[in-house]
Amino acid sequence: MATICLLGGVEEVGGNKILISGRDGSIFIDFGLNLKKKREYDVGHGLERINRILRNYLLIGILPEIRGIYRKDIAGYEELLKSSREINVDGCIISHGHLDHYGSVVFLKPEISIATSRSMKALIEHSIETSGRTGIDREVFIYKDRRYEELKKIGEAGESLEEVERPIIIFEEYKKIKDIPVDVTPMPIDHSVPATFGLYIEVDKTSIAYTSDIRLHGTVSRYTRLFIEKVENVDYLLIEGTRIQDSTIKSEEEVKNETISESLKKKGKLISVVISSLDIDRLKTMIDAARECNRVPVLSPRLFHLIKTLKDVESRVNLPRLEDVRVYFEKRSIIHDGYFLGSRYYRGWLKELYENLESRDILIKAEEISKNQEEYLFIFSGLQYISELVELNPIPGSLIIESTSEPHDEEQEIEWEKVENWIRLLRLDRRWIHASGHANREDLIEIIKQIKPKTVIPIHTENPREFKKLLEKEGGIKVEILREGEEVNINLR
Ligand SMILES: [Zn+2]
Repeated sequence: MATICLLGGVEEVGGNKILISGRDGSIFIDFGLNLKKKREYDVGHGLERINRILRNYLLIGILPEIRGIYRKDIAGYEELLKSSREINVDGCIISHGHLDHYGSVVFLKPEISIATSRSMKALIEHSIETSGRTGIDREVFIYKDRRYEELKKIGEAGESLEEVERPIIIFEEYKKIKDIPVDVTPMPIDHSVPATFGLYIEVDKTSIAYTSDIRLHGTVSRYTRLFIEKVENVDYLLIEGTRIQDSTIKSEEEVKNETISESLKKKGKLISVVISSLDIDRLKTMIDAARECNRVPVLSPRLFHLIKTLKDVESRVNLPRLEDVRVYFEKRSIIHDGYFLGSRYYRGWLKELYENLESRDILIKAEEISKNQEEYLFIFSGLQYISELVELNPIPGSLIIESTSEPHDEEQEIEWEKVENWIRLLRLDRRWIHASGHANREDLIEIIKQIKPKTVIPIHTENPREFKKLLEKEGGIKVEILREGEEVNINLR
């Protein structure tokens, strides 16, 4: 009997966790972190204390109550799961590198294999390395036994390994994923992070398509179109609905043109742009916009590291050209005007990056930008980087463009009022210019009508009933609203 069960992303955006079981075994599709729920209960990070994090997350409902899937080193949750069902899960497939789709993988036991593409893995590793993520949040691909250190102190650590690599399956597009008990074929689709995959799943003769986060208006919409073609007439379509109540649409081209026209109004002043940390399309758009305004694009070291990471794994992702790009040299040290690379305040990846770039004429210091503000367009990710603008001493009335939306990652978790305080303090003018990573209402309906599934199951949306309303008008397509944790038999109907 094949079943499907939504364990997250039900009437909420993000935190997708889908359990699919068939004759041969069970798998998870995504095992994301519900950032909203986490925020609601996170008082001064008390939630995160290592010896009770798993228990607290179960209690709050950030993690589903299932036995047999969680790591055993940070126990303390057994009582909570006493009456829960036990499931043996063989693998977890990650659809893309946004935390709300993979962030809870760190709580899975290390026997469960993790399936990802090569580029996606590199993107996630880049995020872990450069975002200041600490503790257990880093353990997506590496599992670190939390008992080890204390057991070692009392001489009882034995042979147990402190750190093990989780079993990783690297999948290829359009090829069935190996070594998992359900047939799953990943296909690239367009979203605001590269290496995003829709999935075609076959379990006990039932077919399911999962869109992951998807759009039709981005730069590689041809991927989305091809996915739609290949999954036509599936039995079940699991579709995201972040923007099912939103009709607005803006393309990358429009983002570029608006950025150019706003920048041209700011002669003599500094332009800075904040983008999402993995949005390479947007980075490319902003670099192009800078060139068209005759400004030199200056990238935060983190964004440069992102491109470098993908280059290093020979990713097929379309990357921006970097020949005229400069990289911002952050001041971190106490001595040498802040630029002493021997300082411990330059973390590993940053120090390494700067050391590699130092001999080339690519690094640029705040003083140089500050002197000739009209010559640069400064691009960074992560809202907390806004305080770095102080170093650039922007002329009052300089422009800051916010080119980001949904909080997918920890650096967007920062409260907006604080950002606004900085913007006021620095007397900046502010514009919001953004194209969403998600399809709008009309495109979602178009995707469904072209796929022609027998049944639609909305996920990753606060308004699943909206699908029902919209599709019942069209006639013929059934919409099923699943409750969280409800196990639905999918091949007997
Ligand atoms: Zn996403």
